[in-house]
Amino acid sequence: MTNVSAAYGGQSVASAQNYDLVVIGSGPAGEKGAAQAAYFGKRVALVERDPVLGGASCNTGTLSSKTLRESALALSGFHSRELFGVDLAVRRGATVQDFLRHERRVVSAERDAIVANVRRHEIDTYHGLASFADPHTVRVDTEGEEPVFLRGEVILIASGSSPQRPSQFGFDHNRVWDSDQIVNLGFMPGRLAVIGGGVIGCEYACTFAALGVDVYLVDGRTELLDFLDRDVWAVLEKAMIALGVRFMKGERVLECVAGEDGVSLSLSSGRAVEVDAVLVAAGRVANTAHLNLDAAGLKADERGRIGVSEHYQTAVKHIYAAGDVVGFPALASTSMEQARLAMVDAFDLKYKKSAATVLPLGVFTIPEVSVAGETEDSLRAKGIPYVAGRALYDANARGKIIGDREGLLKLLFREHDMKLLGVSVVGESASELVHIGVMALMLEADHSLFIETCFNYPTLGQLYKYATYDAMGRPERGVEGEMAPSESSSLSESAS
Ligand SMILES: Cc1cc2nc3c(=O)[nH]c(=O)nc-3n(C[C@H](O)[C@H](O)[C@H](O)COP(=O)(O)OP(=O)(O)OC[C@H]3O[C@@H](n4cnc5c(N)ncnc54)[C@H](O)[C@@H]3O)c2cc1C
Repeated sequence: MTNVSAAYGGQSVASAQNYDLVVIGSGPAGEKGAAQAAYFGKRVALVERDPVLGGASCNTGTLSSKTLRESALALSGFHSRELFGVDLAVRRGATVQDFLRHERRVVSAERDAIVANVRRHEIDTYHGLASFADPHTVRVDTEGEEPVFLRGEVILIASGSSPQRPSQFGFDHNRVWDSDQIVNLGFMPGRLAVIGGGVIGCEYACTFAALGVDVYLVDGRTELLDFLDRDVWAVLEKAMIALGVRFMKGERVLECVAGEDGVSLSLSSGRAVEVDAVLVAAGRVANTAHLNLDAAGLKADERGRIGVSEHYQTAVKHIYAAGDVVGFPALASTSMEQARLAMVDAFDLKYKKSAATVLPLGVFTIPEVSVAGETEDSLRAKGIPYVAGRALYDANARGKIIGDREGLLKLLFREHDMKLLGVSVVGESASELVHIGVMALMLEADHSLFIETCFNYPTLGQLYKYATYDAMGRPERGVEGEMAPSESSSLSESAS
């Protein structure tokens, strides 16, 4: 080994502490990957640059945004409005403290749970910035201290991602936020511009609109959330407009001027928007800039992402990468699974050999949307003939009880044998309801599963049966479906 001591101020790579696994990052991928290996008896070190464990998922992203959404629903009396036909909201002037209180509690409890999990698995935690010293050695820098060197037989890069910050926005101003900063907002805006109509932008637009904030959703595209079937998007868009979200599609922000009293946005059409605050949700970039990937023999792409195999192995055999750092789908749920799978491969754990074949995607707008498997677009692209069956919440007893008038569950079956290929749900509890479809897709089930299953009554689960009846009754099936008028959808548009 070359003498690197001089370069590291007296410390040496040769004196590195040895581990079976060194993990960089303590988000869902890092935590679960570390725990998986430790559970099977491996000696594990976990390096985290933040003072707290949990990554974006726990501290700024998933949990925070979902808890803030729930707080907005509660504070605005959202559900009561639908049930009683009058606006019962007593807290529409909710303060920032009201809005953030529950989020702080949930995040803090989840951080504690992560620390407990790490301790239970006897994982050594190092707080500091990790970078590669060589392909097997990770250097950990902590301000004011000598660097520490950790040698791993295997290394897992789980360094996640950070919000992209377009140059026209001055993020040091207290009225201009990215999706990390919004969880520390200092005041409740009366008018908010959300820049970017992707998942995060749409979710926050709904959360703030539910609180009575005037929300402008600005996006350069004319089609948003294009991974959803357009009929599903249409339900969501209508609901978002009803909630008060003003869509400004096909618009780019040319200039953002933030002052003491507000923010002025100049848009590409020539229009101007005056708001109290701006949330920029313009995508994310992988956290690899500080990793000194060259020293490991690795390269990242232009968005910082690291390429991996189906087992999440990088170009260097003993280095694995999982979670947002490898790109799509960049979800907490998939990040955990990828890391577990990587560890199974790295240590030959003979425990779990492949990633889930079906990955559900949840969008926590108001209402929620969730999809799994194929969409109409993807089936058309593959040239697979299909039949769609739909069931409306409004025609379902449980849907009536909870007051969801717009919700829709849609199933896509392969035409010739009625094998289930895809499920989309938009409406209350969509992110839970989709799991029935996920299990059916995992089991490669066909329509008979839903016909033969007895669902509780009155429940949204029954929508699966009635969407199946709807698909079976379609003319192209040549089958007289067992349609029950009170429960079935009135939609009859053909899909093949
Ligand atoms: C607003 C928002 C809402 C979201 N909602 C959902 C949702 O509803 N459902 C869902 O499944 N997903 C959601 N996501 C996505 C989810 O948060 C991410 O996919 C997930 O956090 C990725 O996990 P990860 O472990 O790859 O990285 P992260 O959670 O980003 O964790 C990476 C960790 O690595 C640390 N790190 C980085 N570089 C270094 C270094 N050099 N040295 C030491 N430590 C380092 C970071 O500090 C961080 O703690 C949301 C994201 C956002 C932003």
